[in-house]
Amino acid sequence: MWITLTINRLNIKMEKNKNLTGRCICGQVKYIVTEKPLFTQACHCKDCKVITGSSYVINSSVLDNTLIIEGEVSSTELKAGSGATCRAYFCTKCGTYIYTDYASAVGRLTVRTKTLDNSENFPPQAHIFTKDKDPWLNLMDDVICFEKMYDPKKTWPEESLKRYGEYLKNNN
Ligand SMILES: [Zn+2]
Ligand SMILES: [Zn+2]
Repeated sequence: MWITLTINRLNIKMEKNKNLTGRCICGQVKYIVTEKPLFTQACHCKDCKVITGSSYVINSSVLDNTLIIEGEVSSTELKAGSGATCRAYFCTKCGTYIYTDYASAVGRLTVRTKTLDNSENFPPQAHIFTKDKDPWLNLMDDVICFEKMYDPKKTWPEESLKRYGEYLKNNN
């Protein structure tokens, strides 16, 4: 038991120390995420369809002190249907949408998962607003779907909740 616990802790520490990298399509903006994302989710809502020009977006939530941007980004304020505001950040040269700062997500930033170099390592852990999902898009049976939103306390992994909770405690 003791050995298992030690190994688990070691694994978490190693994963935490592994930097992730990402970029825009023209390469003017490059970024580093210094800790693994807290949670990755796909959103099928109508706003995300318009913003992406596609069926859904995939977003990874990271602690706001773990995202390091290199290059020039511009930003604009967007308003969701719910009235919630966010600030979206883009490459000034090619317009690739890199990340979002949601007013409601204190201490976190939301990276566009598919701008990560190894985005295949971060499949969606949940699909949200599936009430607006395109009817021809079939999700696998084992994926976690929500008609609208979910309660992070019930859906996020224990480790992510703990990490986020500690961050808020130490930075507010
Ligand atoms: Zn660019
Ligand atoms: Zn959405």
